[in-house]
Amino acid sequence: MGRECDCPTPQDAGKNRPGYCRICGGRISERWTSNDRTIQEFMDHLLSLPGVDPALIHQCVKRERTGREEFGHKFLARENEAEALEELADFVNYLLFRVLRARREGRPEKLEFVLQAAHHAALAYDITRRL
Ligand SMILES: [Zn+2]
Repeated sequence: MGRECDCPTPQDAGKNRPGYCRICGGRISERWTSNDRTIQEFMDHLLSLPGVDPALIHQCVKRERTGREEFGHKFLARENEAEALEELADFVNYLLFRVLRARREGRPEKLEFVLQAAHHAALAYDITRRL
């Protein structure tokens, strides 16, 4: 099996030595990389929870695949919790903007629904801060 790569951001050796790091020569484990199996395992857990829309899962999988080539293993050295908190703040702001646009256009603001979604984001924010 050989030793595993412990570089902050592993670099795939590519065709010459697939599954190994070009920097340190260590093995890049499929256990901790973002790949079809690890994604599917996580998404299956998520989908088994009540109220989870399969459309979200499909969008997550699609977006991960799109970014995988570009971002590679950068997530291994990134502050993922901080990124998630920022995205939640953006999410809440998008909901605010939705209300303001609806107000301008004379459409229903649906404030109760919007606040419900924002509240769930606030709960997610609180949990994520404790990770
Ligand atoms: Zn390495």
